Amino acid sequence: MLLYEAHPSLERSLPHIRLGQFPTPVTRLARLGEVLGLEALYLKNDGLSGEVYGGNKVRKLELCLAEAVRKGAREVLTFGYAGSNHALATGIYARRLGLGAISMLIEQPNAAYVRRNLLAAHRVGAELHQRGGPLRLALATALQLSRHTVGSGRLPYLVPPGGSSSVGTVGYVNAALELDAQIRAGQCPQPDSIYVACGSLGTAVGLAIGLKLVARPIRIIAVRVATGRYVNMERLRRLYATTVTLLRDRDPSFPRLELQPNDLQMRKEFLGPGYAIFTAPGNDAVRLAAALEGVDLEGTYTGKTLAALIADARAGAIDRHTVLFWNTYNARDLSPLTSGVDYHELPAAFHRYFERPVQDTMV
Ligand SMILES: *Cc1c(COP(=O)(O)O)cnc(C)c1O
Repeated sequence: MLLYEAHPSLERSLPHIRLGQFPTPVTRLARLGEVLGLEALYLKNDGLSGEVYGGNKVRKLELCLAEAVRKGAREVLTFGYAGSNHALATGIYARRLGLGAISMLIEQPNAAYVRRNLLAAHRVGAELHQRGGPLRLALATALQLSRHTVGSGRLPYLVPPGGSSSVGTVGYVNAALELDAQIRAGQCPQPDSIYVACGSLGTAVGLAIGLKLVARPIRIIAVRVATGRYVNMERLRRLYATTVTLLRDRDPSFPRLELQPNDLQMRKEFLGPGYAIFTAPGNDAVRLAAALEGVDLEGTYTGKTLAALIADARAGAIDRHTVLFWNTYNARDLSPLTSGVDYHELPAAFHRYFERPVQDTMV
């Protein structure tokens, strides 16, 4: 982890297990840039962060699962919506480390990726539970925690939604150092802004801390993909502060960084009706990325994020800017993990995702 080079004592105090493949590539999006009138549009592709499964959860899990192992946990328990990329990533990488994986999930709008993620999570051996809402989920979680603690003799290690604990967020502090090294190596110019999806906040917060650490004045445009109740500036500032505190606890030489108003802008106008409900601008962005650049996005996170970038470009708000789109969505083919899995093997609560229609990004 690059962070260890700048802060060597973290190597002992903040464990990390390599799960993915880094650095992820930065490439120019020349065709999309031309259509949008942007001279310098770049892609940082964290879709390729893992060999079997990429996306933004891999960097966070390298720290969360390392801490679980260090604490002697035998299982990890995490949370998400039914089609959670995070829950799937946790299942895949926890099982790979020999840990049991339990996912406590809540209902969400249906989509093809929900089916794929559920099948793949089942295939890798994650234990899946779903409840209709947060309260019922909390009760079911208490039950599963006691059941598993009795069964395995240890309390499962808890990974919060999206892996956005302070520990997980450090994965994206490190990602900013990775980008810094790529800029120094001439792989891309220093961007004026980075457009990134914002759900459980860890990605945007980690990047903001890391960019401040390397003193790069790059503005983060954090595109909110869930309601303001869960995703807001107050929570974002809190995660920023607790992550800096964690780093300073583990290495007192880590600077006392603070979020400044120009560091980050949260955008809410691309969410649409709600989490995981596809929008027309989001769908258009997904189509454009696929047609012009062969980049696969989706309607819940990255389509809405690219839609923000497109809207800003079309409004002339970022003319002559150097812009980086940070892809947080898995780019690996999941079919080896989904083929041959019959959805009837899943708990009955999940069957409806396979029996009812899905939203289409191509409408
Ligand atoms: C989880 C996820 C995000 C959100 O990242 P946070 O760190 O939770 O804000 C963005 N894009 C994709 C594809 C995701 O799976």
